[in-house]
Amino acid sequence: MSTLPNCPKCQSQYTYEDASRYVYPECGHEWGRDEPASETEAKK
Ligand SMILES: [Zn+2]
Repeated sequence: MSTLPNCPKCQSQYTYEDASRYVYPECGHEWGRDEPASETEAKK
């Protein structure tokens, strides 16, 4: 099993893996695979 990262926006662990990115539909957040979650969080 692969380990998916938590949603950087709401910290949920129930993320989906899309073709080239991760998605968490509950909050609508999407982010790239090679985009560090911490960096995304810092940009807000
Ligand atoms: Zn989220």
